[in-house]
Amino acid sequence: MPRSASPLGTASHGIRIRLEQVVAAEPPLTAPSGAAVLPAAPLNLWDDPPVHGLPSIGHADLHVHPSGNTVSAETLTAVYAALRASDLQIAVLTDHNRVDVAQELVARSRDEGIPIKLVVGEEITTREGHLLGVGLAARVPAGLSLAATVAAVHEQGGIAVVAHPLLPIYVSASAHLLVELAEGDLRFRPDALEAMHPLAAWVPGWRRRVERLAQRCGYAVVGGSDAHVPRSVGRGRTCFHGDTEAALLAAIRGRKTWTDGRPYPIRDIFRRHWTSPPADR
Ligand SMILES: [Zn+2]
Ligand SMILES: [Zn+2]
Repeated sequence: MPRSASPLGTASHGIRIRLEQVVAAEPPLTAPSGAAVLPAAPLNLWDDPPVHGLPSIGHADLHVHPSGNTVSAETLTAVYAALRASDLQIAVLTDHNRVDVAQELVARSRDEGIPIKLVVGEEITTREGHLLGVGLAARVPAGLSLAATVAAVHEQGGIAVVAHPLLPIYVSASAHLLVELAEGDLRFRPDALEAMHPLAAWVPGWRRRVERLAQRCGYAVVGGSDAHVPRSVGRGRTCFHGDTEAALLAAIRGRKTWTDGRPYPIRDIFRRHWTSPPADR
């Protein structure tokens, strides 16, 4: 390979050009007295703009309930404000078994041009546990098998994420089923497992077990906050290279995501993070 075609050579050349451009573009900074002064903010050469050809790292919360536990204008306003104020690039709105509220908020966010990208999703109650549909055009019905629900999400071009798996509760898919689906038809195969969930993260060894299963079966790992109250937004995260919805979806499909986040504080553990209003079950 000629030296000029080396990726390393290109990257280092790119950095040199960028630095030269920055230096050339900036007029000399001088105080009125003529003495040199420091710029107000230091140059950030690692995050923005990207270096070495790698895009910056994006953070997405794939599991936010905009309606909280009860649909009200107050809750919506509070969650929307929390999303808007967060440092996330992307949030997926996943109310239980409905997409109408998410669709309204996504349309509003587009009209207002807020910096965070909101995506329509749904947390679907299947017969074998909760499933997150990410990037939906229409509601996916509740009450189907997990496999049929995954297929319904895929038919819409969405991503299917198994929410809080491997917990000994009825809303959680079992390891046995997830191994079986991993070996079957791609239409019924989930794309990712939620491996960071701020409540499940309190269970000793839970994150490690989910990550091991994902590795064994070839599932991507993602994180979500399952926020039902505004202060929980962003507490569970999916990390990826890039900052757009397309980059996030490509990273999940390519199994190149990783997770970050913190367990809920003690005061939030006993709140209704797992249940939905009776009408939405
Ligand atoms: Zn759930
Ligand atoms: Zn949830």
